[in-house]
Amino acid sequence: MSTLIDELKKGQRPGFLSQIASHESLDEETLIERVLSGRVVICRNRRHEFDPIAIGAGTRIKVNANIGASPTQCDFEDEIVKVKAAIGAGADTVMDLSIAGDIGGFRSRVLDECNITLGTVPVYEAMIGLPHPSELTLDRFLKVMQKQAEEGVDFMTIHSGLLWEHLPSVKNRVLGVVSRGGSIMAAWMKHHQRESFLYTHFDRILELAREYDITMSLGDGLRPGCTADANDEAQFGELEVLGELVQRCRDEHVQVMVEGPGHVPYHLIEENVRRQKKICQGAPFYVLGPLVIDYAAGYDHIAGAIGGALAAWFGADFLCYVTPAEHLRLPTIEDVREGVIASKIAASAVDLARNHPREIQRNLAMSEARQRFDWEGQQNLAIDPAKFCDYLEKVDPDTEGDPNQACSMCGEWCALKRANSR
Ligand code: SF4
Repeated sequence: MSTLIDELKKGQRPGFLSQIASHESLDEETLIERVLSGRVVICRNRRHEFDPIAIGAGTRIKVNANIGASPTQCDFEDEIVKVKAAIGAGADTVMDLSIAGDIGGFRSRVLDECNITLGTVPVYEAMIGLPHPSELTLDRFLKVMQKQAEEGVDFMTIHSGLLWEHLPSVKNRVLGVVSRGGSIMAAWMKHHQRESFLYTHFDRILELAREYDITMSLGDGLRPGCTADANDEAQFGELEVLGELVQRCRDEHVQVMVEGPGHVPYHLIEENVRRQKKICQGAPFYVLGPLVIDYAAGYDHIAGAIGGALAAWFGADFLCYVTPAEHLRLPTIEDVREGVIASKIAASAVDLARNHPREIQRNLAMSEARQRFDWEGQQNLAIDPAKFCDYLEKVDPDTEGDPNQACSMCGEWCALKRANSR
């Protein structure tokens, strides 16, 4: 079976390329050159029929929403509503992080009902039903990976970079290992006193990825879980291994991106991104947040959007949203919406700063609608039209005037009305 990279190398041009190029305001040959160099990925399982997107250099910053049931809240009807709410709010991709219930049934519904890129973390499903990570085996992991691949999952997080040699440096941390996948593999290695099978058998994982044309998303099992642990020996030690694995993916013509933190103080974000880009040879960088302070609980979507905007400005390509529920509970539908919108604001700010034509046009159209007091036009252009509608309070500042001019912010002091009246 050939992968997208194989096809492009043979000169084949799948139909979706022109649609992606147009959406990104790129010419098709530039897009192809970046995919071939590994700086852009198009995540698309060969079994999944949908409109894929591009992630990486020169494309718009993309936003992912994590959805999924937990053992304490396992209502897949609710999770489907969340997926649709995330897409409605502008998410570009969805990851199913379920750790309980009929996960396969849920993913099938997402794939059938939603036109979106789907990602997973196979080690989660492989762990379900096991009393301890030590009982996890390579075969069990590969079976789950194959099952998810057959369902049509487009990209998978694989924590192959966390090695035995990194475990001592974790002891110097305030918060240790905070990644779910990382904690599973750290516990496995400690129990068996040997190297992670996700690393020693990475060739088997790559075989499956090639067969279904799955994009590898190399997980950062040692991402810092607090600002004090950012950019430490453990994090950067794992990053070196991720760089090696990027090359192995590319050698097999499997597309690859790399995941990143986490919690990182503002002044360390630039180093984080620049190092990843250098070590991983320009592979797309997919960051979770990063959260710029540790105590914004309830407002972590804002802490994450601030970090995400800065990371994207320095070269991160893909932002995993953070919701107001982070660190506190499974997100509600409203948490999901707010999380996506916060990350979309971060992404759009960077797209505008990079002069993306669609972003310039939307900002200009909004400003012109404000100038005309075109409230309906403003609502349609707003990042959250429903909230725009809820908040709007039009007033009549002048009984002779147009009641649609001015809002309750300034009333008769409305600067726009004053400046435009004769
Ligand atoms: S009243 Fe103030 S905030 Fe409202 S439209 Fe006029 S200038 Fe803008």
